[in-house]
Amino acid sequence: MKNSCRVCNKNADNQVFRIQEMMFKSEKFYDYFLCKTCNTLQIISNNNEDNSTYPNDYYSYKKTDNRIKNFLIHQRDSYLMFGKNILGFFIQYFAKGPDIIALASITSDKNAGILDIGCGSGAFIKRLNSLGFNNCVGVDPFIDKDIYDASGKLIVKKDNLYSINEIYDVITFNHSFEHIPDFQGTLLHANKILVEKGVCIIRIPIFPSFAWKKYKENWVQIDAPRHINIFSIQAIAKISEESNFIIEHIYDDSNYFQFLGSEKRNNSVGISKLKLIIDRVYWNIKASKLNRIGQGDQKVFVLRKNN
Ligand SMILES: [Zn+2]
Repeated sequence: MKNSCRVCNKNADNQVFRIQEMMFKSEKFYDYFLCKTCNTLQIISNNNEDNSTYPNDYYSYKKTDNRIKNFLIHQRDSYLMFGKNILGFFIQYFAKGPDIIALASITSDKNAGILDIGCGSGAFIKRLNSLGFNNCVGVDPFIDKDIYDASGKLIVKKDNLYSINEIYDVITFNHSFEHIPDFQGTLLHANKILVEKGVCIIRIPIFPSFAWKKYKENWVQIDAPRHINIFSIQAIAKISEESNFIIEHIYDDSNYFQFLGSEKRNNSVGISKLKLIIDRVYWNIKASKLNRIGQGDQKVFVLRKNN
């Protein structure tokens, strides 16, 4: 079956995979093809969105109001961003904070202008605010309305990225870039609203990986139909260059989820919480090994604005 790739525009007889929606158990199947040229796995028709694609209980819309959990996350984030937090030092062994690690590698300046694109209900921005960052905001077109904190400060703007014209030092895509139909236009606009030599951080699932080879159609991070494109390194290199970015750094930040999620055990009945915690630690160790050899199922791309 001939398909035209959205990244490299090559029209070829590409292999097609039938992927079942897994997160909400809709039992629907979606066809994806794998571009022979740039190795991007992409959904054939991206007109699948209906009310069931991103229901209200989709994880990035959930509010995190568990005080103890938020306290522990704050300690960990504080350690990852600024160091000098003994409790945070221990917590990060059990619950990593890859979004903070990625940002901390670029800046810990609390006045830095930071825009998080596709941020859902703004959990990442709230965490940055609680670390003392005072110039950060999220944008997401799919939330109900703008989100403010208790003091009236804007957390998330319900808007299309293209209507954002303020200038930022850092722009982040924390597992949102793979959901965006117009990825090229999005990255071009991100470039336009960055300061000179500004940085864009893209954290995405990547193709291929050990998890893809092991689980194929059951690899949890295909997440049909929400993930429109699972890009390869060469695909991101092409898109970055065409958006006037230079790739400064690439590294893996995959975790236990590629295994537990793919084996559909997260929601299994009969598996005790203790077993899940042990499995999580076990699979996190395995994920760290894969990350070290570049075979994890997600990567971080640090892009520097070239002009
Ligand atoms: Zn391609």
